[in-house]
Parts: sequence; structure tokens; C-alpha cells
Amino acid sequence: MKIVTPDYYPQFHCIASACPDTCCAGWEVVVDPEAEKRYRSLEGALGGRLRASMGEDEGDCIFTPGEDGRCPFLNQQNLCDIQAALGEEGLCRTCHLYPRFLNDFGGTREMGLSLSCPEAARIILTAPSLPGYRTEDHPELPPDLNDLDAGRYFAVKGARDRILSILSAGGIDEAVALSLRLARKAGKQIRKGHPEKAEGLAASFDRESALEKEKGRAEGTSPLSAETVIGELLGLLILRDSWRARLEKAALPEAKIPPLDPEYERKVLVQLAFRYLLKAAYDGRLHARMKFIAFSLLALRVLGRGMDHESLLTLTVNYSREVEHCEENMEALLRRFDKGGKYGGRAFAAQLLQK
Ligand code: SF4
Repeated sequence: MKIVTPDYYPQFHCIASACPDTCCAGWEVVVDPEAEKRYRSLEGALGGRLRASMGEDEGDCIFTPGEDGRCPFLNQQNLCDIQAALGEEGLCRTCHLYPRFLNDFGGTREMGLSLSCPEAARIILTAPSLPGYRTEDHPELPPDLNDLDAGRYFAVKGARDRILSILSAGGIDEAVALSLRLARKAGKQIRKGHPEKAEGLAASFDRESALEKEKGRAEGTSPLSAETVIGELLGLLILRDSWRARLEKAALPEAKIPPLDPEYERKVLVQLAFRYLLKAAYDGRLHARMKFIAFSLLALRVLGRGMDHESLLTLTVNYSREVEHCEENMEALLRRFDKGGKYGGRAFAAQLLQK
């Protein structure tokens, strides 16, 4: 198997009790079957605690969080009792992997770090430049067996890689509008069963002429508004009351949502594009996924207005925790973005390209 990682990937080390937050509160931890088996047969006091703490949610074995939302194995020093007793190898797959994510595409595995971890977010967002990507051969890992269609995979990969290059240079608003355009056009060909046409579109994408066309499409369309963006977030599942309070007190600009630091914005966009767009090789939702990225940019702009770099970092972590890390929320958003109307490509373009 080939493993692709951003070049900052090896820098991550959990800072444990020095973490300003913790990944062991507010989320249910899903315990994989192998770890569940080990935990159920573990002797001694820890074995008893493990068995008493394992519950079930929709068929998954989970650690049931305490009333304060903390994992039952997170101690007062914000350290993990399982890791202290059994070492890192004793953790279940969820805890062992986090905050790393992995996406498998047959013989290729893409891995990265998640913005929901403060230390990972610091590494990603304070890097001196945008990431490069390394590919390493791991012949000891067998390819992931799945029903991935090779033609569709290469078409989506071509579009995703072109979008990464579009987002890496030039004005941010134009780059996002252009990426939405390419995702829409390539996604349409992929869904119609013409991956070769989608590959051609990505290869021959011309920034200047595409921008003119996108400006034309945006004319006369109501821009996607800050009110819509924040209203959407308020309608999702909310993990923490502090997040709800932040959304409720957000100041909502009536016209153009003002941009933030372009370096910060570009890093967020590239991170989300790397992580999410290639998944369209499975479900064909390239345009909806690109709309999620554009939506995230607009949400962070509204919520991050006037913030210094440190506060923006915390905001990004919280956004990621609340939105990205909740499967129900991601699916709800993608379903919205599959449709046009207030989340049509024109509405995004009208918001992004207005003066
Ligand atoms: S959020 Fe990140 S740094 Fe903090 S405890 Fe979890 S893995 Fe470690």
C-alpha cells in the first residue's frame, strides 16, 4: 500500500496534560471489536472498570461518558488511565489513531491530522508554508478491498489536485469560487458516468476565463448570507453550550462577509480540500463537498471577525469539533449542499465575488 501524508504529519505528539482542551470529553469513544475483546477479558481492577464502562450505541461498543461528559478513564490530571496502565498499545483504535485521520482508496491510504485537536491545529495553522505531501511504499500493508471505481477515483483525484493548486495561489475568494466551479462541472461529468471528461476539465481548467464566467453567473443572484450560515450551524447538533452561545452572539454582516488573515484561510482551505474532496470517489458528491469547504470558510469568517491568531486557532478547533467530527452534522450539511437554492453555486459565487 502507498501512504500519502502532509509533510508536517510526523511532528505531532500528544501534549496530554498540557493540552488546553482534551479529546477525552464531549465525545463518545467507539471501541473497536478487537479492543472490546481484550478489555472484556482483562483481569484486575482496570478490567472491572473497563467492563463497567462499556455500553452500546446503535450497535457500537462505546465508553459511556460520565455526567460531566468526560471519558470515564480520563483522570484528574487529564491523563488516560488505560494508557498509564497498558501503554499506547493498550488503547482502542479510536484513541490510538486520534487526531490522525485516514482515508483508504484501494492501494492508496491518505493520512493527516485533524483540526479538532489543539496541538494538531497549531502544527497545521502555524506551519511556515502550505504542506507538501509525501508518498511512501508500505508493501507489508495489503490494499483496502472495496468497490472503488478506478476511473472515478482518478477523475476525482485529478479535480482534487487541481483544486489544491487553485487554492494555493491568488486571491482567496476567487480561488474558492473557481474551485466550486471546477467541482460542479467535474462532479456533473462523474455522476453522468464520464470520468474521462472530468479529468479533461481538470487538466484544461483556465483560471481567467473561468473567473469571468463565474462572475457572470453570480450577477443578479442573492449572495449566501452570514445569517443563513449561522442559522444553519444553530440547526445542527451542538455539543457544547459555549458553542451555541458563540453562534448566538455572532455579529452578522449584511453584505460581504469580511475576510480574515489570508494565510490562515488558505491553510484551512487546503486542509479541508485534502481531507474531504477525494471521498467523492466513493459517493460522487464533489460539488457538495467543495460547498462544505466554502461554507466552512464563510462560517469561520463570520465567527472569527476581529480575532487574533491564537483565538482563531481555538475557534477552528471548536468548529472542527462541533461540525466536522459529528457524522450527523456532516451528513446533514452535505444533504443541504447537494441541493441548489440558497446553497446553489451561484449564491456562493455571489457572496465570494461581491466587492
Ligand atoms: S486533543 Fe490532541 S493534544 Fe489534546 S489530549 Fe487529545 S490528542 Fe492530545
